[in-house]
Amino acid sequence: MKKIVLIIAAMLIGATASLAQDLSGLARFDVSKSSIENKWRGVMLTLGLSQGVPWRVFTLDEPRRLVADFREVDWGDATGLSLDQTDRAGDVRFGQFQPGWSRMVVDLKAPLKLDAAEMRIDEDTGLAELQVDLALVSSAEFSETSGQPETPGWWLPPAAEVAKARMRQSGQEELTVVIDPGHGGIDPGAEHGDQTEKVLMLAMARELKDHLVRTNRMRVVLTRDDDSFVPLEMRVAIARHAEADLFISLHADALGQGQAHGATVYTLSDTASDKASAALAERHDRDDLLAGVDLRGQDDTIANVLMDLAWLENQPRSQAVANAIVLALDQAGTPLHKVPRRSAGFSVLKAPDIPSVLLEVGFLSSTKDRERLLDPEWRANTAAAITSAILSWSQTDAAIGDLVRQ
Ligand SMILES: [Zn+2]
Repeated sequence: MKKIVLIIAAMLIGATASLAQDLSGLARFDVSKSSIENKWRGVMLTLGLSQGVPWRVFTLDEPRRLVADFREVDWGDATGLSLDQTDRAGDVRFGQFQPGWSRMVVDLKAPLKLDAAEMRIDEDTGLAELQVDLALVSSAEFSETSGQPETPGWWLPPAAEVAKARMRQSGQEELTVVIDPGHGGIDPGAEHGDQTEKVLMLAMARELKDHLVRTNRMRVVLTRDDDSFVPLEMRVAIARHAEADLFISLHADALGQGQAHGATVYTLSDTASDKASAALAERHDRDDLLAGVDLRGQDDTIANVLMDLAWLENQPRSQAVANAIVLALDQAGTPLHKVPRRSAGFSVLKAPDIPSVLLEVGFLSSTKDRERLLDPEWRANTAAAITSAILSWSQTDAAIGDLVRQ
């Protein structure tokens, strides 16, 4: 008779689910042994895996969702449609969360509290099955029992490391530029056919890095150099940790309305320059929410950032970089959006002491932009233009810095 090993996780909300430390390696997801089913007063989720791995499960509110993390699962070709959905639970996303961690997110269409969760491992075959039981409760009870099991912001460097004030770049020393390829992992960003924003922007970031490094004037750090999900706040933390002189986030979003095309450069603002910019900034924050990161409540609001003196000095510098990039792209013949300079409350631009811009190189929703994004010659041209913009900005910025200090 087969023996079944039970690994039962502590499901007290607020406590990290216990991890089975002796388990390691990459498990494969088996969609044929997985299901989401309604049961009496709840939902049962079953996931088949080729072996046991450490895991944890928790729920989050607004929007309601179930998050399951594994160390580490190969999802294969699984997409949200691989699992049947019910009227209570559906819209499933799979992906890599952090290097070494895989995540599944299930949108909950009803307040479903975590009732029990356990991973069973068959001792003979080694096959594992995670079973999660969810029970219908009131909205209030769901809110009360939902939350991240860890200290929020666990990925941030210790406060001491970020506390020291940044020296304004002098135009003489090596410039540290942090390039942030938008989205990644479980968050693909905009999609069109086989093309995803996360893949295109990683390629573009690597190419831009090559251009910048070749000037022998810059050190370049990427916020991600693979297909990982990196929370927005972590991207800012990486820039601060690298002691960045400049932060550039690269995106190619899809914009619903009209025939929008061309490049746009954004800076941070508490009041968005227009509705579309506000919607875009909100959507990027929402991507984090959907991936199971909930930073609301402990995120510095922009209002607070605006009070910061460092930000007051920094904001004109961000605007100067943005203007320099727009000018250089225009001179290089890169099509610009009809309003190429905009502002909105992008969380990724919130480092108060690092000049930060978000560059929408084009819209994945535009046929022409897409063709350009896939054209190596156009990308090289664009990277060269951004490089020259950064070089000229750093000189002007250093000269202004000298004036400020006098
Ligand atoms: Zn984007």
